Amino acid sequence: MQDFVYLLKGRDFIREVAVACPKCKAKALVSGGEPDKMLAEYEHKVHFSCPTCHYFLKYTNTPKFRVYTNKRGQNISSRLLMLNSPCDPFFGFEVWYQIDTQNGLLWAYNLEHLVLIENYIAKRQSNCVGLPFDNNSRSYRLIQGVLDVKNRETILKTIQRVKKT
Ligand SMILES: [Zn+2]
Repeated sequence: MQDFVYLLKGRDFIREVAVACPKCKAKALVSGGEPDKMLAEYEHKVHFSCPTCHYFLKYTNTPKFRVYTNKRGQNISSRLLMLNSPCDPFFGFEVWYQIDTQNGLLWAYNLEHLVLIENYIAKRQSNCVGLPFDNNSRSYRLIQGVLDVKNRETILKTIQRVKKT
């Protein structure tokens, strides 16, 4: 069951996120994420780089959002992670590994994440009950749907193809 828990906690895979470069659409990388630390501790390390067009961005150059106003009336701002959606959690660029299924979009932050999803789909029998799940019930329902569909083989073949991109 451990793998399923990981599947839903995409946060564990934020060290290196494969994305589509917003400028040239080639495969590029957002790196520097540290799943076990507070964002403020590592945000200076996070950056985007595209090996094809050499577009480069530092996360610390992105704007902060006002999170709240403290008792002394000071505005406290921070950068916020965009988790649980098919984009990198820092810049919001579209993830590279995406697979359309009739139940919704399967997506992964990187190859390791995709292989884990693949193994999960390959190993599980349909209609598993009692799966542990995160608070992200949309992913839960999606995975349940993928396990239930008759074209599970097709999805696995598509994953094979996407892995090579
Ligand atoms: Zn590029």
